[in-house]
Amino acid sequence: MPADYDYDLFTIGAGSGGVRASRVAAAHGAKVAVAEEYRVGGTCVIRGCVPKKMLVYGAHFAEDLEDARKFGWTLGECRFDWKALRDNVLADVDRLNGAYTDTLQNHGVEIFHERARITGEHEITLAGGRTVTARYILVATGATPHVPECPGSELGITSNEAFHLDDVPRRVLIAGGGYIANEFAGIFNQFGAHVTIVNRSDLILRQYDESLRDRLLKISVTKGIDFRFHAEFRGIEKTDDGALRVAMTGYDDIEVDCVLFATGRVPNTGGLGLESIGVELGDKGEVKVDRFSRTNRDHVYAVGDCTDRVQLTPVAIREGQAFADTVFGNNPTTVDYDAIPSAVFSHPPMAGVGMTEGEARNKLGTVKVYQSDFRPMKHVLAGRNERSLYKMICDGDNDRIVGLHMIGPEAPEIMQAAAIAVKAGLTKADFDATVALHPTMAEELVLMR
Ligand code: FAD
Repeated sequence: MPADYDYDLFTIGAGSGGVRASRVAAAHGAKVAVAEEYRVGGTCVIRGCVPKKMLVYGAHFAEDLEDARKFGWTLGECRFDWKALRDNVLADVDRLNGAYTDTLQNHGVEIFHERARITGEHEITLAGGRTVTARYILVATGATPHVPECPGSELGITSNEAFHLDDVPRRVLIAGGGYIANEFAGIFNQFGAHVTIVNRSDLILRQYDESLRDRLLKISVTKGIDFRFHAEFRGIEKTDDGALRVAMTGYDDIEVDCVLFATGRVPNTGGLGLESIGVELGDKGEVKVDRFSRTNRDHVYAVGDCTDRVQLTPVAIREGQAFADTVFGNNPTTVDYDAIPSAVFSHPPMAGVGMTEGEARNKLGTVKVYQSDFRPMKHVLAGRNERSLYKMICDGDNDRIVGLHMIGPEAPEIMQAAAIAVKAGLTKADFDATVALHPTMAEELVLMR
């Protein structure tokens, strides 16, 4: 490329999508710079998937230690130290932050640790005042927590702050019914907090299969998590003793020590200067792109959560890779969004791939549903009355599996392998032809009725 510009590519945002795109573009020979206003690694590494999963592991010990006695262990006094877990998790986040920074630097990508915005056709201005130019601009600015407007909403926190709390709050109110709400409900509940989930609708986890949602709800209630449905926030105020009193429609006020908003994530595109060069945005502020992640301006691309396609790390990474291969690798590549597996790291976790039963009935007409509702062996011995549910949805015409859904221990681990079979278009007969691996929970996949 002619050297008319300072860089061949300038990426705004060093998260999952931006890091992959920058690194691969540089490996293809491009001169690349990236700006990051917070920490290299982005949401997933710094304040999303990774630290969240570590808290989930930590939380699981509550039940594992309880169950251990039934397996013959005598335990001394067990105490949980939140600060120890928090600090260990944050130390690992620091390590990953360094590893991602090294990866970029080892590929010759220049990093600006400051906010960037677009100030001209090919021009980017950094918070410190420096202006640079680039042939291509990649917007990879992710999403940001949405906090509903209500008096006192500033007294609440979001998942961003949850990783830095000084203590586990004694009483937590979590607003929202999505995966982040249910995951943090499980975490805080296991750490001994009293958790109340408050949701506007009467559903949790809308995108997941109906039967699994019901199962999680029942198990969560059994574990002591309270739910308030059809409740809208009216306001939050601080009481004299430092607690938070929350008023909502349809219910009495509730006093808690922490309000966590997990009420969705919106594309992080405000103040980026996109409109100034005519880049088209959608109603939620998402950057509109074609299947190559190109905006309506030929030299501006966008990947990841800021495009509001599928807000998951592996998807942002694939979009970043496809962008770099297309633009700098001379290999036009698109991302296949069909049959993306996903999980909720609740207690117990759930995972799904493909259509729910409801979606399949609407789309296909005839469907066959198989399921296995069982108590895992480990729970039987532990005296834990918690049942797992696996559900397989098949196209009634050709037996092809169009959806697979599981709730139970290790469901996401099992799902990653099973999703390959679903993606490959296998049938129920193909699963049945595979001999069970006994004794496992996963064997239920080939024994469903
Ligand atoms: P991000 O990773 O958010 O990166 C965007 C980066 O851009 C950020 O670092 C931001 O600071 C930076 N930035 C923004 N604007 C500017 C600017 N103007 N100048 C410079 N820098 C800027 N996904 C999963 O797949 N599995 C999970 O289990 C999972 N759990 C999650 C749990 C939580 C609590 C959260 C919040 C998210 C979770 N996600 C999970 C979602 C996942 O984190 C995102 O889908 C993923 O990080 C999106 O990557 P991205 O590159 O689009 O954006």
